[in-house]
Amino acid sequence: MTVRDIKSVLDKVYGSEIPDLVDLEYLLALEDEQQMESLFEYADQVRSRFVGDEILLRGLIEFSNFCRNTCFYCGLNKYNRELQRYRLDSSQIMSAVNDIAAAGIKTVVLQSGEDGDLDAYWLKDLIERIKMDFDVAVTLSVGERSYEDYKLWKQAGADRYLLKIETTDKALYDSIHTQMSFENRIECSRNLKALGYQNGSGCLVGLKGQTIRSLAKDILFFKKEGFDMLGIGLFIPHEMTPLKNEPLGNIKLALKVIAVTRIVTKDTHIPATTAIGSVGKGDARLLALKAGANVLMPNFTPQPYKRLYEIYPGKRCVNEQSGECVHCIETMAKTINRSICYSRGDSKKNSHAGVLHN
Ligand code: SF4
Repeated sequence: MTVRDIKSVLDKVYGSEIPDLVDLEYLLALEDEQQMESLFEYADQVRSRFVGDEILLRGLIEFSNFCRNTCFYCGLNKYNRELQRYRLDSSQIMSAVNDIAAAGIKTVVLQSGEDGDLDAYWLKDLIERIKMDFDVAVTLSVGERSYEDYKLWKQAGADRYLLKIETTDKALYDSIHTQMSFENRIECSRNLKALGYQNGSGCLVGLKGQTIRSLAKDILFFKKEGFDMLGIGLFIPHEMTPLKNEPLGNIKLALKVIAVTRIVTKDTHIPATTAIGSVGKGDARLLALKAGANVLMPNFTPQPYKRLYEIYPGKRCVNEQSGECVHCIETMAKTINRSICYSRGDSKKNSHAGVLHN
C-alpha cells in the first residue's frame, strides 16, 4: 500500500465515530518506516488540533510500594520478597506536594501499589489538606476500591483517577492477573466515571500472547468508554516476576498504539510514559510526544524511595533528586519546538463536569 493509500485509511479512521477494527489493525501492523512516519505525523496534527502544542505536566508522588496483587508483569507484585517496601507518611507527602507546587505544576498524582492497608479516611484527610493548602488538581492512582471509597475521595476533592485496564482481552487479562477479576476492573472504572472523576485508562504493549487485534480492540474500548486520559505503557521484563524471560515490548508498536489512540480518541490527554522513556538509546518520550502524546509526569517521589518503586527495571531518572526532571523536561520540549504548560490541564471533555452522585 502506498503512502497515499495510508492517508485514505487515516482519514477514514479520523472521520469515523467508531472506526472499523480492520482499519485499526492495518495501522497498527505498519512496518515500513515511511508509512509509520505518515501515521505519526497524522497523529501529531490531530494532537495539535485537539489538545494544542503545549505539554502538560503532572507531578508524580509514588507514596507506597506495598501491593496485594500479583500482576505477572510488575515488580511490585506481592510475591517479590526481595523488594524493600515503604509507605510515606502524610508529612512526607505534603512536603513533596509543596515541591510540586513550588515548581509551578498544578497537578499532583498520588500513586501507590494496591496497598491493602491503605486507610480510606487517611487518604480522604490527605486530599482535603492538599486541596486546602495548594491550588492543584489531585489525581489518584491506587487501584481497585469500593464505590464508597471512590465517592469519599471524590467528595474530599479528588479530581481524577487512573485505573488502567492493561488489556481488554479477557483471556489474556485473566492469564496475567490470576487473583483479580476483569469484570471488577471494568466496574471500578465505570464507577469512577459515574462519580464524576476525570477518568483514566490505558494498556500495556508487548504482553506475551497479545495480538494486533487485541490492541485494536483496546483502542475501540477507549473510544467507547469515553476516557479523559489514556496511558500507553511498554512491557519491560522484571527479574522478580513470572514473565521475567519474556522479550521486551516493541517500542515502535507502542508508538503506533499511541498514534492510533490519538487519532481515534482525539482530545484525550496522553502521557509520554516513563516506561517508553526507559528503553533504547536517547529518550523515546520525545518520539511519543511526536506521535500524539501531550503529557509528561516528572517524578517528585523523595529519595531514597524513588528507586524502590520498581514496577520494571531500568526506570529512568530514579537517581535524580525529587523534581530535578522539570528542568530536563523544559529542555526536552524545546528540542521539538513545544513548550510547557503550567495550568491544571483538565480534561477537554465536558461529560464529567459537575457530576457527583450523593
Ligand atoms: S501493576 Fe499495580 S496492582 Fe499490579 S502488582 Fe503492580 S502495583 Fe500491584
